[in-house]
Amino acid sequence: MKNNCIFCAIAAGEIPSFKVYEDDDVLAYLDINPFSEGHTLVIPKIHATGMLDASDELLATVVARVKKVAAHLKTALPCDGFNILQNNGAAAGQTVPHLHFHIVPRRGEGGGISFTSGKGDMAALAKLADRIRIA
Ligand code: 5GP
Ligand code: ZN
Repeated sequence: MKNNCIFCAIAAGEIPSFKVYEDDDVLAYLDINPFSEGHTLVIPKIHATGMLDASDELLATVVARVKKVAAHLKTALPCDGFNILQNNGAAAGQTVPHLHFHIVPRRGEGGGISFTSGKGDMAALAKLADRIRIA
């Protein structure tokens, strides 16, 4: 298996997938453990582990295809909204180290994926922004 990578194997057709979109650079297929009906993964066909080792050009192409597939899912399924999720690193919950975007169709009201756990300390946030601001 190329790169010992399951998503490279899917891109090469060595492992079957339920494809929903394909072009020269990008493949989209259904997640085998769907969070919701139509949960789709969008990957570049060439290997990158995550966002930081993908070229800007490749990322731009993949994100444009994420938009195309999401727009299509919205009418084809349909769904009322969707979440885009992209995990980088095991600490962030990435289990497959090949760059991928999740498109998670959502239906009805109020379905979120929340990252907030409480009100932040404004002074601490100001200091933190100073520490990490890009010059
Ligand atoms: P991560 O947690 O790395 O962002 O997400 C990896 C996703 O890939 C998971 O949602 C998992 O269900 C999905 N997945 C893992 N192996 C396969 C596979 O062989 N085929 C498909 N279609 N999805 C897979
Ligand atoms: Zn790969």
